[in-house]
Amino acid sequence: DTSLTMVDVTPRIRPDLSSIPAYVPGKTFPGAVKLASNEVIHDPLPSVKQAIADAADTVNRYPDNGMVELTETLAKNLGVTPDEVQVGCGSVSLCQNLITATSGPGDEVLFAWRSFETYPLATRVAGATPVQVPLAADLSHDLPAMADAITDRTRLIFVCNPNNPTGTVVDAQALVDFLDRVPSSVVVALDEAYFEYTRFDDAQSYDAMDLHRRYDNVVVLRTFSKAYGLAGLRVGYAIGDPTVIDALRRVHVPFSVNSLAQRAAIASLSAASELLTRTETVVSERARVTAALREMGYRVPDSQANFIWVDLGDETMRFASDAIDAGIVVRPFDGDGVRITVTEAHENDLVIAFAADWSKR
Ligand code: PMP
Repeated sequence: DTSLTMVDVTPRIRPDLSSIPAYVPGKTFPGAVKLASNEVIHDPLPSVKQAIADAADTVNRYPDNGMVELTETLAKNLGVTPDEVQVGCGSVSLCQNLITATSGPGDEVLFAWRSFETYPLATRVAGATPVQVPLAADLSHDLPAMADAITDRTRLIFVCNPNNPTGTVVDAQALVDFLDRVPSSVVVALDEAYFEYTRFDDAQSYDAMDLHRRYDNVVVLRTFSKAYGLAGLRVGYAIGDPTVIDALRRVHVPFSVNSLAQRAAIASLSAASELLTRTETVVSERARVTAALREMGYRVPDSQANFIWVDLGDETMRFASDAIDAGIVVRPFDGDGVRITVTEAHENDLVIAFAADWSKR
């Protein structure tokens, strides 16, 4: 019977998915100095470990799907109402959920490039069209060019500030001028994953909560993965107008922020001042590492995040693989440059020593 042999047994998967690469995180190996994912070097505070241990006793039950206590604590700290806050399974899920909530086939999602890898991948998974606007010569967002790139199909814009992977920030006035040019129907995600590491000068300084109050279409994204040291638990949050937050709740994967993550995030907020003090080391170390590498002739833009960008062009992959041979894992972006996490002096010294050797090779 030929009809049987004609049956296609391949599972039916959307054909366009095969051209979308899976997200590939920084690789590491035992004993390596891992500087590829912008994590903090410290293990959790005792109070946070205790909260995680206590929550472990309850994992036979589903977590609070409304994430009520964490949402209310965040809202109180930020001076907003709980209906202006949505917690997510890492801010990466909030990026994805904003795309799902705003965009589908035929719609455009606009962002700078190079920027956070999830923006183009998640846009394509949603069947929408990524529109990438090259960074300016100083590797910061070219906001006037991004405003020029808005069309009547633009549904969502990501502004990553500080930008991953270049660490650069925009000027506050340029940001306001940009927001004034964005139609109010277009959501602007101000991705502040590295917010706690910023030390803005007068020209760079803005208050994201103020922007949220002034522009209904602005959604601010933050995370517990970086300065709060909870990358392994996956918890981030969005602050925005209740209409956008309501949409995020509708597309939220039920129970995707687990009970350990919720309790650890609440405990971390109680210990915020102790955790945020640690950012001071990173802030002074990034200036030291930047200066040292520039002295050797590397091109390193000013960073406001817990990493630096080294512009290496065609030498990127060689630098990264030689670094692995030296026991250091950095994050290469082929043909462009490497991103190196800044942590404590003893690890940063290894980076400086490796970079010095490599520059003399
Ligand atoms: N936004 C930016 C700019 C990032 O760099 C990251 C982490 N790499 C995220 C969002 C997502 O972080 P998380 O999901 O851990 O909150």
